[in-house]
Amino acid sequence: MVVTGGSRGIGAAVALKAAAAGYAVLVNYAGNAAAAGSVVERIRQAGGTADSVRGDVGSEADVEAIFAAADAMGPLSALINNAGVFDQPSLLADMTAERLERTFRINILGSFLCARAAARRMAQSRGGQGGSIVNLTSAAAKLGAGGENIDYAASKGAIDTFTIGLARELAADGVRVTAVRPGIIDTDIHASGGRPDRVAQMTPNLPMRRPGTADEVAEAILWLVSDSASYSTGTILDVSGGRAILP
Ligand code: NAP
Repeated sequence: MVVTGGSRGIGAAVALKAAAAGYAVLVNYAGNAAAAGSVVERIRQAGGTADSVRGDVGSEADVEAIFAAADAMGPLSALINNAGVFDQPSLLADMTAERLERTFRINILGSFLCARAAARRMAQSRGGQGGSIVNLTSAAAKLGAGGENIDYAASKGAIDTFTIGLARELAADGVRVTAVRPGIIDTDIHASGGRPDRVAQMTPNLPMRRPGTADEVAEAILWLVSDSASYSTGTILDVSGGRAILP
C-alpha cells in the first residue's frame, strides 16, 4: 500500500493501521523525514513491513520515484491518496495565482498523478491484479468554505468528481475507487493553514461538540480499501460527525 502524506495526521494513522492489518506500507512524505521515519519505526517495532520515500505528489518525476520505490516492495494493491494542503484564510479577491496553483497542483494534480501510477500497475487489462484506491476529499467540498478557503474546498470538489469518474473507468478492471469525506479532524493541517486554534474555536459549533480523530478517519479508510467493501466503488463516505450531511 502506498500512503501519500503518510508521515503525519490521517495518513500516519492509516499507515499504522494498514501495517497492523498485514499490508507492506510505503509512507510518502513531503519534507518531514523525522515524522515519516518515526511511523516506519513504529510499524517495524510491531513486526510489520514499511519503508518511507520523500516526494512531492504534485511533481510527475517525484510520483514516478514514489511508485518505483513501491515496486521494490512488491506488487501494488492499494493507494491512499491522502497528501493535501490547506492555506491561510483568504477572500478569493486576495488570493494569488501562486497560492491557487499550489493548492490545485498538490490536491488535484497530485491525486491524479498518483492514481494514474496506481491504475497502470493494478488494472487487470494492463496485467495487474486489481486493487483499491481511496481518495481524501473534505466536508469543505459540500460547504464551499466561502470567505476562508474556497480554493481548498473546490480542489476537494474535484476529488469528489474524480472519485466517481475513475470508479466507473476502472470498475471492470478489478480496481475499486472510493473516498472518505472528513469533517474537522484534529491534525496539524489547521496550524499549517495559519490557524492553530481553529479546531478549538470550531468545537462548540460542531454537531458532536468535538472534532474527529485521525484514527476515526483511518478506520473508514481501512474498511473502504479492504475486501470487506468489495461491492463499494464510487462510494464517498462522510466521516464528519454530522458536519457534511447535505444532499
Ligand atoms: P496533515 O496533518 O497536515 O498532514 C499532511 C501530510 O501530507 C503530511 O504527511 C505531509 O508531509 C504530506 N504532504 C503535504 N504536502 C505534500 C506533497 N506535496 N507531497 C507529498 N506529501 C505531502 O494533514 P491531515 O489533516 O492528516 O490531512 C490529510 C488529508 O485529509 C488531506 O488531503 C486533507 O485535505 C484531508 N482532510 C483533512 C481534514 C482535517 O480536518 N484534518 C478534513 C478534511 C479533509 P510532511 O510531514 O513531510 O510535511
